[in-house]
Amino acid sequence: MKIAVLIKQTPDTAELPKISAADASGGQVQATMVINPWDEFAAEEAIDLCDRFDGDSVAISFGPADAADALKHALAMGVNEAVLIENDADSSDSGDDWTTAALLAAAIKAQGEVDIVLTGKQSVDGNSGSVFVGVARKLGHPLLVNVLKITDVADGVITVQRGIDGGEETVSAPLPVVISVAKEINDPRYPSFMGIRKANREQIPTLSPSELGVDMNSAQTAWTNIRKPAERHTEVKIIEGASVPEKAAKLAEALIAEKVI
Ligand SMILES: Cc1cc2nc3c(=O)[nH]c(=O)nc-3n(C[C@H](O)[C@H](O)[C@H](O)COP(=O)(O)OP(=O)(O)OC[C@H]3O[C@@H](n4cnc5c(N)ncnc54)[C@H](O)[C@@H]3O)c2cc1C
Repeated sequence: MKIAVLIKQTPDTAELPKISAADASGGQVQATMVINPWDEFAAEEAIDLCDRFDGDSVAISFGPADAADALKHALAMGVNEAVLIENDADSSDSGDDWTTAALLAAAIKAQGEVDIVLTGKQSVDGNSGSVFVGVARKLGHPLLVNVLKITDVADGVITVQRGIDGGEETVSAPLPVVISVAKEINDPRYPSFMGIRKANREQIPTLSPSELGVDMNSAQTAWTNIRKPAERHTEVKIIEGASVPEKAAKLAEALIAEKVI
């Protein structure tokens, strides 16, 4: 069985990003980049499925050259191989979700027959939770989302438990399939010291959008104007009173005066 796991590199949410002083072109935000935390659950599941069903796993990322570090994290955990799709166009032209999905789907196809594509539930920066939808659409595979447990893979059919509003359901789908995992699915392992050393020595092969036949200028959406929400001014009033009923009555009067109730 062949498993592909999609790994995005994202800013480390455990530390505050540093913002350099603004120059003519504006300030620069600098953040330590790490493996998207939700993708560690997908990597762990890929490793576990390979153990359970005798498979091979490949981690795939689209990003700048240093996104190879996120792939090395997955390799250090125990994923077998990795491939980086490195943008060969202007690096500021990263494409929209659909372009990202097209690149990832083309890179998955380039791996030969892949039975299961695993992804995280969302990225901690873009946060759209949309890329796996595009990948499944581009590959023409069924998509199972919010998967809590992979129960079985047998006779070309995968059976999973997925979270739904107010409960869980058991679903089966024919392979090949795209699966977005929930954080309840497992406890991602820490990479071992030996795993880190081995991963650091790996030369990760790269593919370019042009090699994959994806036009980076085909984006349907563009970030043109990112606005801060309007600043809100708040005022605090302490309601004084000799007793709770008196304070409650004054509070009600104040709320009525402000037309809140
Ligand atoms: C410099 C820059 C410019 C951008 N410009 C635009 C723009 O003009 N218009 C626009 O719409 N968007 C733009 N984007 C956003 C870009 O489209 C998204 O970062 C990308 O589509 C991923 O979406 P997401 O982060 O919401 O991932 P989600 O959909 O939340 O991710 C879900 C899962 O998909 C997988 N995944 C997602 N992204 C990747 C990846 N890159 N590699 C491997 N796996 C992945 C992971 O498993 C992840 O857990 C830009 C991003 C950058 C960095």
